[in-house]
Amino acid sequence: MSKIPFLDIFFPKKCVGCGKMGKYVCEECEVGLWEEEQICPVCTRNSRYGLPHKYCHGSYALDGLTCLWAYDGVARKLISRAKYKGRYDLLKFLILNFKFEINVPMFKFNEFLKGKPVVVPVPLHPKRLRERGFNQAETVAKALATRHVLAYDSHSLQRVKDTGHQVGRTRIERLLALEDAFSITPRPPLDPRGGANILLVDDVWTTGATMNECCMTLKKAGVKKVWGLVLAR
Ligand SMILES: [Zn+2]
Ligand SMILES: [Zn+2]
Repeated sequence: MSKIPFLDIFFPKKCVGCGKMGKYVCEECEVGLWEEEQICPVCTRNSRYGLPHKYCHGSYALDGLTCLWAYDGVARKLISRAKYKGRYDLLKFLILNFKFEINVPMFKFNEFLKGKPVVVPVPLHPKRLRERGFNQAETVAKALATRHVLAYDSHSLQRVKDTGHQVGRTRIERLLALEDAFSITPRPPLDPRGGANILLVDDVWTTGATMNECCMTLKKAGVKKVWGLVLAR
């Protein structure tokens, strides 16, 4: 009897972009997936390796940002399939198996990984978590922790304010809504006194307001370095 992996029976591998059988993303569709231009997490203008510009970097700002995919076409489909159809297996598979080092400029990010940061997902408010049933950022963060053999922590950083839906709000409205939205109760492995650095993970970078607010909360609690990673922007 031939061995067919359990998941393949229920979800046969089919390209999300064009429907071709065999892979979740076929080679032709993968070409347009990668985000080769990285940005400064402060001013969002282009920046090599996702480092903040010298004149942008403040003490509470992200120390770097890595965006894996360009948020259109195939990436948009992948993320909405995970979010609205519960296909986190698909995201997990892609994170564990894609050779993103080849496609994304990751030199500085790889250096950061060598310091063994703790992987922390951007938390959802408990009310949103109940509505949706899962936090997509957790799926991505867990897979990254497995991939790079890093500690994972989803309980120290919490979202204490329900900011509602940010879509349709101006930048200022978004920032105001996010003020004091997060709190931190450090427990191991995320103990700033132990010198742990953080790899902060979310699915999509829209304005960066959420990730920047999380970073500020972490740094105010004593975390020295925070690097952001998102699937797409
Ligand atoms: Zn395809
Ligand atoms: Zn900048």
